Amino acid sequence: MTGRAIAPRVPAGVKRERFLVFGAPNIGEAEIHEVIDSLRSGWIGTGPKVARFEEQFRCYVGARHAVAVNSCTAALHLALVVSGIGPGDEVITTSLTFAATANAIIHSGATPVLVDCDVATGLIDPERVAAAVTPRTRAIMPVHLHGRPCDMDALLAVAGRHGLLVIEDAAHAVETAYHGRKVGTIGHLTCFSFYVTKNITTGEGGMVTTEDPALARQLKTYALHGMTSDAWKRFSASGYRHYDVAYPGFKYNMTDVQAAIGQHQLAKVDGWLARREAIWRRYGEAFGDLPLGLPAPDEPDIVHARHLYAIRVDAARVGCARDEFMQRLHDLGIGTGVHYRPVHGHSYYRERFGYRDEDFPAATRFGDETLSLPLSSGLADADVADVIRAVRHACGV
Ligand SMILES: *Cc1c(COP(=O)(O)O)cnc(C)c1O
Repeated sequence: MTGRAIAPRVPAGVKRERFLVFGAPNIGEAEIHEVIDSLRSGWIGTGPKVARFEEQFRCYVGARHAVAVNSCTAALHLALVVSGIGPGDEVITTSLTFAATANAIIHSGATPVLVDCDVATGLIDPERVAAAVTPRTRAIMPVHLHGRPCDMDALLAVAGRHGLLVIEDAAHAVETAYHGRKVGTIGHLTCFSFYVTKNITTGEGGMVTTEDPALARQLKTYALHGMTSDAWKRFSASGYRHYDVAYPGFKYNMTDVQAAIGQHQLAKVDGWLARREAIWRRYGEAFGDLPLGLPAPDEPDIVHARHLYAIRVDAARVGCARDEFMQRLHDLGIGTGVHYRPVHGHSYYRERFGYRDEDFPAATRFGDETLSLPLSSGLADADVADVIRAVRHACGV
């Protein structure tokens, strides 16, 4: 990596007055009023608004069942638990993901088996998945990185050949579709995130979708202490009801305050996608002449959720390394992110499993070069122009 580069001098009008925060949520008056309504109603735990949000999400995705939880991390953990995956089992996932994907596998008691990704898209490589299958493998956990769908035909074929479950990390992929099918209806269980920076947010929150009614029932039970009847109904007007604990479950339920936000966010999801698509196109046009790697073009017959616009900074071409490039943008008032430094490089995974960068050349390179620019639906045209000006300046143009 080059540490030498001297940042170009900043002419007037390039540095922003107000720092542009990366991944700022887009919260409207409807969300605010709905939260106030929840607070005034006195029902701030899991209740009717969660049920309504689940139904709304279920319809949006076109899934048979949707179960709300308090994070995507919880969703991934629960999905593994209700699948009966635990100690002695292996789950294959990509190294190029947020640590929560692999952590959830650890929490289930199973062993994560990391594989490398495609160097251009960062998506899990189905051939490497096939090569990593052992008699202990129980599931594949693909990640629709940045909102782009994985090669689900290839992954489902591998899963079918070996009798594996497909549990999708769709934290970036609320709007994503693959060959005419919405993500959330393809694998056995699909996990979504409503974290602050995601395409729609509930502050913290997540959802699991599935076609299997038995799994959906188990998800509900396991998300709330393993209690049988819906706990929120226990104290309702229909009278107190006793519950039974069938399993030592978790405390993963979503609350009505979170669902109050989510309901109104979800109603705006497609309009916001159109806005991010417009920003995406502007970036593509504005950066075409720069020595940066731009996002790979879309495969045919997919919907990309445009969650993250990631550029690649190859030090040999740009004249400075990714971290220096981020610092330049930061100094110009532009917040950025890195999605992701690969899981195999984090100390816990390196030390416990002996992973080496050489075993993951594509993920390592992607992780060293990638840099995500602001792409929130709430960006004004002037913000987008500021990002473009700053990126061009950071390139020395
Ligand atoms: C955000 C994210 C998660 C975790 O989501 P939470 O809702 O914050 O738990 C998991 N996987 C990926 C790929 C993510 O981006």
